[in-house]
Amino acid sequence: MMVVTPTKIVCVGRNYAAHARELGNEVPKQPLLFFKPPSSLIGDGDAIVLPAASQQVEYESEIGVVIGKRARNVRAQDAAAFIKGYTCANDVSARDLQKTDGQWGRAKGFDTFCAVGPLVAEGLDWSMLEVIGRLNGVERQRGRTREMVFSIPVLIEYISHVMTLEPGDLILTGTPEGVGKLTAGDVVEVEIPGIGVLRNTVTGDQG
Ligand code: ZN
Repeated sequence: MMVVTPTKIVCVGRNYAAHARELGNEVPKQPLLFFKPPSSLIGDGDAIVLPAASQQVEYESEIGVVIGKRARNVRAQDAAAFIKGYTCANDVSARDLQKTDGQWGRAKGFDTFCAVGPLVAEGLDWSMLEVIGRLNGVERQRGRTREMVFSIPVLIEYISHVMTLEPGDLILTGTPEGVGKLTAGDVVEVEIPGIGVLRNTVTGDQG
């Protein structure tokens, strides 16, 4: 089941310093934005399909922010009023293509590369959220909103000064360190305490 129907999915790269370093990147001086297409969305329980074009597809456990009302030129101190809720997200990424392509549209944009769910939780405190990533039951990632380079309100201020955010739009706020490769047959989970567990299986491309 799809819990969001965004007009756009805005993603933030390198928003945890330790993850930026694990990939050999600098911590950005301002938010690094990219997009995933809505066609990449899948829900809890759906399969992530490994495309034949990539040999290195990786999971990225993230906190997803769902916009509740149209947001344009919002100040960080007002941002909470524009948030509907939060959800678990997996920013699945073809790391090899991300490096060779330069632009990330292909590496981040394959069908099934944006897993979101199992629900959108309302009324949570953005500053207290934690995200945990597990591969085949083993914890690989754990990050807290207080470790983000740019906080959720600052991201909403920054993004809404570029583009109007519509109700249902989704912001993926970056992944903590511990990303790793997915293989057919894997089960990958993203948990946010207070929201639940997003669980997806991984399959090969059947053509
Ligand atoms: Zn990401």
